[in-house]
Amino acid sequence: MSKLIEKDLKFVWHPYTQMKDCKKAPPILIEKARGIKLYDTNGNFYYDAISSWWCNIHGHNHPKIKKAIKKQLDSLEHVLFAGFTHKPAILLAEKLISIAPGNLTRVFFSDNGSTAVEVALKMSFQYWQNIGVNKKIKFVSLDNGYHGDTIGTMSVSGVDLFNKVFSPLFYSSFKAPSPYCYRCPINKDRMSCNIDCIGPLEKILKEKSTEIAAIILEPLVLCAGGMIIYPEEYLAKAASLAKRFNVHLIIDEVATGFGRTGKMFACEYVENLLPDFLCLSKGITAGYLPLGATLTTDKIYQAFYADYKEKKTFFHGHTFTANPLACATALASLEIFEEENVLERVRKILPFFHKTMEGFKDLPLVGDVRYLGLIAALELVKDKKTKQGFTFEEKVDFEIFRQGLKRNLLLRPLGGIVYFFLPLCIQRKELRDILGRAYSLIGSFSSLANLKRRR
Ligand SMILES: *Cc1c(COP(=O)(O)O)cnc(C)c1O
Repeated sequence: MSKLIEKDLKFVWHPYTQMKDCKKAPPILIEKARGIKLYDTNGNFYYDAISSWWCNIHGHNHPKIKKAIKKQLDSLEHVLFAGFTHKPAILLAEKLISIAPGNLTRVFFSDNGSTAVEVALKMSFQYWQNIGVNKKIKFVSLDNGYHGDTIGTMSVSGVDLFNKVFSPLFYSSFKAPSPYCYRCPINKDRMSCNIDCIGPLEKILKEKSTEIAAIILEPLVLCAGGMIIYPEEYLAKAASLAKRFNVHLIIDEVATGFGRTGKMFACEYVENLLPDFLCLSKGITAGYLPLGATLTTDKIYQAFYADYKEKKTFFHGHTFTANPLACATALASLEIFEEENVLERVRKILPFFHKTMEGFKDLPLVGDVRYLGLIAALELVKDKKTKQGFTFEEKVDFEIFRQGLKRNLLLRPLGGIVYFFLPLCIQRKELRDILGRAYSLIGSFSSLANLKRRR
């Protein structure tokens, strides 16, 4: 073990990591990255098949992005954003408004995905207070939804494994079942259903809308909850329910934004979707620097616009709000989208990606295959008929992660759900190589017995 790793294990506490496992599987010391490959200090490479936790867009070490950061660094690294402003933030706000769906007209910056969501939740809440509707103080969200790790965002998340222990701290909110077609909450079949799983959400709104400030949703993909890809019709219906019952629609595109689903924003799959809030982070800087943004409408904005003595100000802000380096990076990334015709290039590669994913259905453990844009997931089950999944204790995710590394793949399954969350710069031959390696990896886990033997 290298000296540095020894120090890591002595001084560092890693996120989403049982540090006890690090004895057997110490973290990998990454030295550099190029395109979609990460290189460790021993000269091994790993395909970054999950975009370094869903944020990398144009690949690592992109010359244009590096240049933009260096140029910005020469003039201004940071300045507070209250009473002061700067060119990268102004131009980025203008640009985001120009590409955003619906009638979003204002950008509130922060510095990560959880804060982008917290801002939307607090703005929605305060909006109703500011206009004198004092009872709208709750939120509705989905089971298996995920909106961040702060206490406020955990309260509207639905991933028990991560959050249950903290539940006594949560404010009360309503949860609706998620549109999880492979494990349909009402035992219907997508081929014949009429999105009936929206029933419980409709019921909550019908009965409680006077208490509800907003619905919060990840559009089309419940990412951390298991890369659950759901029908556009559900999103369309949820959006129209929000309008009908006078509650805000908060669209959390922190993971799905910036082309990952094949469109700039996933909510563009639904025509005329009008979010009241759009939360952005992760891919906003192409994965180079932390930045969050919450976009909202003029209607919301106007409810805060008043004489100071009225106390309608949004008293919220983070030290690194709209960091100039991050904003300059985001602008460079959006220029790359245009200069390199990124979305068109992605669209060309998708049929090959999706067709190859279908091929995984042949494998004995693969119960479900789902995909949208550059996101795809394989849900592993012990028995395809009963759909019995793997238990938490079986640690298939840990095992697949470890075996994947041996095949130059960075995969980090969510329980029994193995997923790809690919950078937009991926080329066909890289994709073919990644999927070939993954196929043989999953194939080698062909029986649970086999899995046990490995351990
Ligand atoms: C990752 C994620 C967040 C939280 O972002 P952080 O930057 O990790 O705080 C919020 N919402 C969604 C949908 C995410 O995937």
